Amino acid sequence: MAVPQNKISKARRNQRRSHHALSGSNPNECSNCGELKRPHHVCPSCGHYAEREVVSMIDEIDIDEDAA
Ligand SMILES: [Zn+2]
Repeated sequence: MAVPQNKISKARRNQRRSHHALSGSNPNECSNCGELKRPHHVCPSCGHYAEREVVSMIDEIDIDEDAA
């Protein structure tokens, strides 16, 4: 099995990792509500995609609150 002959120094290891940083996301404005959303994803605030509603956003959902 091939084994590294020499230990990689901290400086050399960190120089290699200098390219590993993640870049930020690139959000778009929703065409329906104007909120920032991820491109090619359904808008999380209004549920629209490609100018039509694909996920219904109902504010009041009766979850058994008084059942407990
Ligand atoms: Zn939206």
